[in-house]
Amino acid sequence: VTDHPDHQRIRPTREGQARLLAAIEMVGPPHVVDSGTLGEYAELVAVRGRAEADALLPDVAAHLADGCATCADDLRDLIALAETPDTSAPPEPPLAAGAPPSRSAVDSGIHAADLPDPHAAESAEPARRQRRHRLRDRLLIGVAIAILLVGLSLIALAYRAGSQPGRAAPAGMNCPASHPIKGNRSSMIYHQPGGEFYAQTRPEDCFASPADAEAAGYRASLR
Ligand SMILES: [Zn+2]
Repeated sequence: VTDHPDHQRIRPTREGQARLLAAIEMVGPPHVVDSGTLGEYAELVAVRGRAEADALLPDVAAHLADGCATCADDLRDLIALAETPDTSAPPEPPLAAGAPPSRSAVDSGIHAADLPDPHAAESAEPARRQRRHRLRDRLLIGVAIAILLVGLSLIALAYRAGSQPGRAAPAGMNCPASHPIKGNRSSMIYHQPGGEFYAQTRPEDCFASPADAEAAGYRASLR
């Protein structure tokens, strides 16, 4: 049968296959979901639910709504991984070894896994294991991004609280001359210069005026 002239003519060449793949990639939907973002989305779906994940990462939601089969497939596995309470001890033996194999997957396997493997059909099991490692790495990147974002917003909140007009940070036992009123946070009492306890009070907050201290919830010392 292989000697038949028609069969010879329709057999695709390697160049032809490459051109076809390139054409399919150019026609396909643009891939807006980068490494880690899908993992972050999966973590949000697992922890807070689909609706909140869609609201927080609308780009990913839109991309999935466009029907990207690769991301839909990866997302299903990522959510399953995110919902697994202990990722270091899953039931299957390939992942049971824990941290060292996953590190080696990051060092060597993850980039190779992105390339087409000519022996993929012969070794379906290692390919699946590489895919699982790649998915888990994406999830870990997503979790790291989420933690970073929470950290940054906490720093921003602390900075805003510290830079309130009328309030300043103390230096040891002293308040700056521009904000001489000492606030004691444990009692929520403020002391004005000349007050009986002013000198011995170690301030946690310093205020420009009594009104600023009262706006922050402090009351005046009676002495
Ligand atoms: Zn996609």
